[in-house]
Amino acid sequence: MDFTFTEEQVMLRDMVKKFADNEVRPLARQIDKEQNADLIKQILKKGAELGLTGIPFPEAYGGSGMGEMGYCILLEELSYACASTTVTFGAHMGLAGMSIFIGGNETQKQKYLTALARGEKIGAYALTEPGAGSDAANLQLSARKEGGHYVLNGTKLWITNGDIADIIVVYASTDAKLKARGGITAFIVETPTTGFTANRIHDKMGLRGSATAELVFQDVRVPEENVLGTVGRGFMIAMETLDESRLSLAAGCLGAAKELMSMSADFAKKRVAFGAPIASFQAIQWMLAEMAAEIYQMESIIYRTAWLFDQGKKIPREGAICKLFCSEALDRIVDKAVQIHGGNGFMGEHPVERFYRDSRINRIFEGTNEIQRIVIAEDILKKGGY
Ligand SMILES: Cc1cc2nc3c(=O)[nH]c(=O)nc-3n(C[C@H](O)[C@H](O)[C@H](O)COP(=O)(O)OP(=O)(O)OC[C@H]3O[C@@H](n4cnc5c(N)ncnc54)[C@H](O)[C@@H]3O)c2cc1C
Repeated sequence: MDFTFTEEQVMLRDMVKKFADNEVRPLARQIDKEQNADLIKQILKKGAELGLTGIPFPEAYGGSGMGEMGYCILLEELSYACASTTVTFGAHMGLAGMSIFIGGNETQKQKYLTALARGEKIGAYALTEPGAGSDAANLQLSARKEGGHYVLNGTKLWITNGDIADIIVVYASTDAKLKARGGITAFIVETPTTGFTANRIHDKMGLRGSATAELVFQDVRVPEENVLGTVGRGFMIAMETLDESRLSLAAGCLGAAKELMSMSADFAKKRVAFGAPIASFQAIQWMLAEMAAEIYQMESIIYRTAWLFDQGKKIPREGAICKLFCSEALDRIVDKAVQIHGGNGFMGEHPVERFYRDSRINRIFEGTNEIQRIVIAEDILKKGGY
């Protein structure tokens, strides 16, 4: 076993680190305070110039061919600086791009995936609805065939990049009786288009700079050739996409966790109480040690799973384990980071406060952690242990 990054991966990591330090970190507070998704849009465009929007995809589709390992490196490094930015990149590539990569035919990949990978267009993935979150198979947005088109009617909710995207992968019901077993179809919807409205949702607890939107479809006509792959395959595409994106979500948790540990160690060395730096107190040292132990576990399972994915293995259990473990580990770590910072950690001018608010979503989106436990248990019961 060789656990070292290749020369190419090290170069990518260094490049993204520089990009995050120069282009993202200085804006992170402003992005959060102003809920400013336009700033992130500019960052995405700058990232595209460096090839960052196509990291996981093959060169044939405008990507860099650096696979899941490269993609996890990208999201880890971005997360040191700004979770809102990481999630914007994640929805664009890991959700929208990956859906097309997994489910699309050659023409669709050439046309849409290439535009996403080059950053010429922004992508979003629309599965969740007001009445269908965890129970995604119960989605109600309907697609009715009319000649050479499908007509879409319904509402999607909390869609990341929903109002800044040019290409939205929309999951719709084409047969209400069949549901997940052939009744759901994915469509590539280009925006703006007649009958489509996107309404930005403000005042989130965290990720305040990422664009989250409600999407309303009123008789939106989508040409037949924009059925992603084949009719009835949508639910499978949605779930396979999530297997991968849950892993990359975990990589985002890892970057945030490492940043929090560094911030906490630096603070503990400088902050003096009872005549000594608080770093000299065992209570503080134990918190740092526990952070490091969790980070080591996070890093180990993420890059092992990314390697598996790049070997062509399906990762429903492993992706869910990474998401479950890393999002919960990050919550424990961010809580300790606030504690080590004392009152400073509660104040808006300190980044720890933003990390605390941004971290919480990871246990909710891309399938709640209760759903991850169900996915893992079902896989064990179906296939057995290791
Ligand atoms: C900021 C943000 C960004 C998002 N981005 C996107 C996006 O880009 N695209 C997209 O499609 N969606 C997106 N979502 C939606 C997200 O994926 C859903 O919120 C999530 O899947 C949970 O659905 P829900 O909120 O409807 O919760 P519900 O399904 O209503 O669940 C409520 C609670 O019940 C629990 N629960 C439900 N069913 C079970 C069960 N069988 N067993 C045990 N417990 C259960 C859940 O775990 C949870 O604790 C986003 C959400 C947010 C907040």
